[in-house]
Amino acid sequence: MSAEETLAQIASEVSVCTRCVLHATRNKSVPGEGPSSAEIMLIGEGPGFNENEQGRPFVGQAGSFLNELLAQAGLQREDVWIGNVVKCRPPGNRDPLPDELAACNEYLDRQITAIDPKIIITLGRFSMGKFMSGAKISQVHGQMRRMGNRFVIPMFHPAAALHQAALKPAILADFAKLPQLLEHARTELNKTVPGQEDARQEPKDDAEQLSLF
Ligand code: URA
Ligand code: SF4
Repeated sequence: MSAEETLAQIASEVSVCTRCVLHATRNKSVPGEGPSSAEIMLIGEGPGFNENEQGRPFVGQAGSFLNELLAQAGLQREDVWIGNVVKCRPPGNRDPLPDELAACNEYLDRQITAIDPKIIITLGRFSMGKFMSGAKISQVHGQMRRMGNRFVIPMFHPAAALHQAALKPAILADFAKLPQLLEHARTELNKTVPGQEDARQEPKDDAEQLSLF
């Protein structure tokens, strides 16, 4: 199956999924969207009111702000893949519960494998928790960390930054660094082991943590 076919397959499974209680109150599930060849995946928390109506991620106020942040980094929304750790709306926008995150996790793992992005940007603490359990977002936001054959950058959630004025400069600065971080990720991931020009370098889990500026 091509990456595109795999993503379509996952979306169709998610549309009828009953693995957790969130299925009972959803209108539309939100599998995520974007090119199967995206170099960057952005992963938020879960659908809100508007996303649940439309079946698309980040289409409300937080989505408009996210579009602005991407534009500032010279990226179009169409260039990146955007999704969430839970695909169905938690009622009243409550936090997703541990068993819901666990039930939905496999879909996101399959999406990541299919897309094989160079960079994953986690938006907010639930998404960050999937990759860096125990990390504090206030301490690690904007710092790119290698994890196997890709990099992960934790960032604040755009909705949090919209509602807490103090976070706005931080999220703006973190997105502004993205072009350089992407350039660095491309260079690092293209490096080959001497004598094995076909092989990609062995993963250096957590060996490298980058914070430009
Ligand atoms: N907030 C999220 O975390 N995800 C969305 O899709 C929309 C708002
Ligand atoms: Fe299934 Fe995920 Fe929706 Fe729960 S949130 S019903 S696991 S798709």
